[in-house]
Amino acid sequence: MIKKIICLFFIVLLFSSCANETRGLLDEQFDTEVYLADYDAKNGFLNGDAGMDRYGSVYYYSFMYGSPWIYYYDAASGVGGKLCGKPECVHMDQDCNAYHIDGDFCIYDGQLYYTEGSLMGKYLYRMDLTGSQREKVQSGIHSDIFIHRGYIFSSETQEVTKKGEASQIYTLYQDVLGQEGQSKVILEVQASVVSKVFYQVQGNKVYIMPISRSSEERTADIYEYNITTQKIKKLYSWKSNETPSGFVLEEDGLRILTGEKNRETEIRTVRLYKFYFEDGTMSEAQLVAEADGSLSSRLGQNHALVFVSAGYQVKESTFIAESFAGDEVYNGTLTSTVGQELWNVIHMGGDETGEYFTYSETSSVETSNFQLYRWSSEKGVEILG
Ligand SMILES: [Zn+2]
Repeated sequence: MIKKIICLFFIVLLFSSCANETRGLLDEQFDTEVYLADYDAKNGFLNGDAGMDRYGSVYYYSFMYGSPWIYYYDAASGVGGKLCGKPECVHMDQDCNAYHIDGDFCIYDGQLYYTEGSLMGKYLYRMDLTGSQREKVQSGIHSDIFIHRGYIFSSETQEVTKKGEASQIYTLYQDVLGQEGQSKVILEVQASVVSKVFYQVQGNKVYIMPISRSSEERTADIYEYNITTQKIKKLYSWKSNETPSGFVLEEDGLRILTGEKNRETEIRTVRLYKFYFEDGTMSEAQLVAEADGSLSSRLGQNHALVFVSAGYQVKESTFIAESFAGDEVYNGTLTSTVGQELWNVIHMGGDETGEYFTYSETSSVETSNFQLYRWSSEKGVEILG
């Protein structure tokens, strides 16, 4: 009899541990580490400076800085414009379906999701990919959204003052798409400043890298969140004078690009690193570029991208792309064709077709007319819609 009870006990234990292993999956089809085109966030666009996503041959983008519009560009037909399917709309005011002041959006299961509302609480909306059928989905969502395998990931950074000392708390939330009130805190980081957070996904794992600073120390921590077990673990804690400007997921680890400015000489140095999953180590630094203050850098899918601007109001930057192996694969220019007061290059993200850019400019919301660029090692710089 005792044997039977013990047997039964182990059978129950076995079943409950099996259930635990898949408890975070919202659907049977997500029980795979293989990329699911309709349900997985796209790493190449999670790393960009502004909102961009893709469905088939159509790219959707929004610039955030000074422009509230969501645009589309169909790479197959060359047609693009503001994303609005409203009949007789002139696409000039807030009633236009392409008007989203947040500029924060993503594509999931053939629909475009975006947030609107105050910092206190946002609503999630969706519409179809022609800019029609706009509807409210749910409340209680925060900023910087992406949707992955049925979960909405969003975050907020709050200012807090304790004993006269100001600091920031970054919080990453997970919500179930289509279900109100299921918000779960995944990660909280408190520091003097939490300047930027990067994300990458792979199957049922989400990689998170918050960049924070307390007094003179900069920290970049790498976390791995497991959707299946709903557990998070810290893979690496990196203290450095260098500031990471992005990370890209590779098969065996994470490629990280950093920038550092020497305060005395004003020289900026760009370096590449690799974090290896297998043994949890960070590689030695690999020098990418070194120049004076006008240098900026971004991380592409397969390249380190470096821009050297000739100065304020100059419409041209020297643009260099270097492979992760350290080979210079492109050295040319990126020239703007629009606007008067151009300054920063904005990297929208990239995919297997290339890396996407625009310039930020200071013209008004109504007249702003952004130019989209694509760079690829095969075709160089192309001007798109
Ligand atoms: Zn419109």
